[in-house]
Amino acid sequence: MRSTNAGRSPECRILAIETSCDETAAAVVADGRHILSNRVASQIELHRRFGGVYPEVASRQHVLAIQTVVEEALADAAVAHVRELDAIAVTNGPGLAGSLLVGVNLAKGLAFASGLPLIPVNHLEGHVYSNWLYPDSSPGAESSASGDGIARKQRSGSASEQFPALILIVSGGHTELVLMEGHCRYRLLGATLDDAAGEAFDKVARLLELGYPGGPAIQAAAESGDARRFHLPRPLMRPGRRTERQPDAQVSPLPTVLPVHGEHRFNFSFSGLKTAVLNLMRQLEREGAEARQTQTAADIAAAFQMAVVDVLVGKTADAAAEFGVKQVCICGGVSANGLLRRAAEQHFAKIGLPLHCPPLFLCTDNAAMIGAAAYYRQSYAPARQHAATGQRNGHDAEAAAQATPRDFLDLDVYASLPLVDSMQR
Ligand code: ADP
Ligand code: MG
Repeated sequence: MRSTNAGRSPECRILAIETSCDETAAAVVADGRHILSNRVASQIELHRRFGGVYPEVASRQHVLAIQTVVEEALADAAVAHVRELDAIAVTNGPGLAGSLLVGVNLAKGLAFASGLPLIPVNHLEGHVYSNWLYPDSSPGAESSASGDGIARKQRSGSASEQFPALILIVSGGHTELVLMEGHCRYRLLGATLDDAAGEAFDKVARLLELGYPGGPAIQAAAESGDARRFHLPRPLMRPGRRTERQPDAQVSPLPTVLPVHGEHRFNFSFSGLKTAVLNLMRQLEREGAEARQTQTAADIAAAFQMAVVDVLVGKTADAAAEFGVKQVCICGGVSANGLLRRAAEQHFAKIGLPLHCPPLFLCTDNAAMIGAAAYYRQSYAPARQHAATGQRNGHDAEAAAQATPRDFLDLDVYASLPLVDSMQR
C-alpha cells in the first residue's frame, strides 16, 4: 500500500496487463475501483479478413504492441517508474496460450526487475470485477476536485458490497451463471453446454455475411429488422404463462418463456439456435428467397438477437429469484448488447433488484477489470498471490528476502482456467 500525500488514505496502485485473446491491454487501477489509465490496442482489423481470431497472428501482434501499450498506460497514470506501484497483475487464463504468454512473460519480467508482487488473474474474474470499477474515474471522464486528488465522482452504477450477487458472464468464449457469495467466492450455477453466446453471435453473423465481430454487426442489422417475421427456438426454455413473467411488449413480442425444469435449469445451449438459423436460411433459399438479402438478413438478425436475449434474461431472472440475491451483474463482451441491457433493466427495475452492467468500454476485454480483480483477490484471497513475490512495505519481509528468481518466473498460463476452481490454484 502506498501512502500518498499527508492526510490521504493509503492507496494501492496496480499495473494490470491483459493479452488473453485479441486485445493488447494495460491499465493502472487504484484501490480496485479507480481507473487511473486504461489502454486497449484492438486487433479487430487484423482478424477481420479471417472472420475470427487467428491465434498465431494474435500472439505476434501482442509482441509488437505490448511495450507501447504498457508505457502509455503508465504515462497516462503519471507513473514514472514501475517501482512506484504496489503490484503487477496479469491474466494467466483462460485464453489463447500464445497470447497469454506475451502478457505473462512481460509481467514476470517487470515483477522480477522491480521486486513487486505478481498477481495472476483469471480473465473471467476480471469480467466480474468490471462491474466494481467506477467508470467516471477513467481518464477523459469529467473529473471532480475531491479531497484525494483522484476523480472519485460517479459511484452509483457500480456494484456494491451486497452479497449474494448473481453474475451473468456472457462473452465470446464463456456463458456462465455464477452465484457470488462474497468477494472472490463463487458458485457455478450453470454454463453453456456448447457454444458461448458471443460465439453464437459471431457464427450467425458469419452465416448472414454481416461482418466481424458478429455481436455489434448483428445488433446493427437487427435495428432495421422485424423480430416477429421468423420464430427461432429458445434453447433449454419452456413456454410460460404471461402471468409468470410479463416482458414488455417492446422488448419481447413473443409469449413468455421460462427455464426448463431439472438439471439444465441454469445451463445454456446456443449451438442449436445457430443451426436453426442455418436451416431457416436454407429453407428460404429453397423457396427462392435470398437469405443474405438486406431486409431478410436484418429480420433473421433481429429474431436471433431476441431469442438469445430471452434466454439470457429468462435464466438470470429465474436464478435471481431462486437464490434471493441482493444484486445482479452482467458482464463480458455480449453485455454491450443494447437489447440485452434494455430487457434486463426492464425486468429488474420492475422487481426492484439492483442491476449492474459495465459501461460499454469495460464490457469487452480490457486491463482495468484485471487490475480490479487483482485488488480484490489480494485483499480477500491473498493465498493465490504468486509465490513469495517480494512483498513490499514490510507485509512479509522475510518472504521477500527469501524470494528467488524462480518465485517470479514459474507462473503458468492456462488455456482453460475455470473461474470456480481458480481459488484452489
Ligand atoms: P472474450 O470472449 O475473448 O473474453 P470479450 O469479452 O471481449 O471476449 O467478448 C467478445 C464477444 O462479445 C464477441 O463474441 C462479440 O461478438 C461479443 N459482442 C461484442 N459486442 C456485442 C454486442 N453489442 N452484442 C452482442 N455481442 C457482442
Ligand atoms: Mg473477455
